Amino acid sequence: MNKKIVTIDGPAGAGKTSVSYALSKRLGWIYVDTGALYRGVAFEIKRAGINWQKENELRALLDDMELDFMMEKGCPVLISSGEDISGKIRTADIAMLASSVSAMPVVREALLSIQRSLALKNNAVFEGRDMGTIVFPGADFKFFLFADLKIRALRRYREMKNENHDLEKVEHDMEKRDKNDSLRECAPLKPAIDAVMIDSTYMTLNEVVEKIFDIVNARL
Ligand code: C5P
Repeated sequence: MNKKIVTIDGPAGAGKTSVSYALSKRLGWIYVDTGALYRGVAFEIKRAGINWQKENELRALLDDMELDFMMEKGCPVLISSGEDISGKIRTADIAMLASSVSAMPVVREALLSIQRSLALKNNAVFEGRDMGTIVFPGADFKFFLFADLKIRALRRYREMKNENHDLEKVEHDMEKRDKNDSLRECAPLKPAIDAVMIDSTYMTLNEVVEKIFDIVNARL
């Protein structure tokens, strides 16, 4: 029997990660954070010190790269060629580099098969930017989660409370990343035509999860 897929796309800070994970627990399905894969590529580019704008250098790095994503005890784990790099990918500069390199078709192509193979064995909730449009155009349920920029920046700022950031910079970086992600030619951030649009600006995490769960559950 074909496995079921829920896709949740949207800009940074709209609540995709918390919502997708809570929903996956509620459904008893696996959860895949595809942003972690793009962050993994950015991290390996930085570590190798290559010029990622040169396609041959980028392709060679991608050919050698083996990424895998899983949840362990409720925490996201990203493995790169056997090494756990989860603790190294959640920084502001890796997020920005991920946004730049994710515009390269060769990067998106390399991650396509990893993402699709994760969906072969399990019902899954996939979170990202192009899940409903490019990676899983035939997904059973598609959602696009968004919110006002100021609210998204404030949420992200609060998550970063242990780091040295100011709210204005968080908002500025977020706006820049949204622009990069929405304006790129290859797999831009945009809602699939058949996605349910959810504005989370004035909604709690629980309200969003319940809303999505009810829609999915009614059609299972
Ligand atoms: O979701 P997260 O903020 O971790 O994603 C980091 C970056 O990875 C995004 O800004 C985006 O450029 C890229 N990304 C993407 N396609 C996805 C998931 C993430 O281009 N499906």
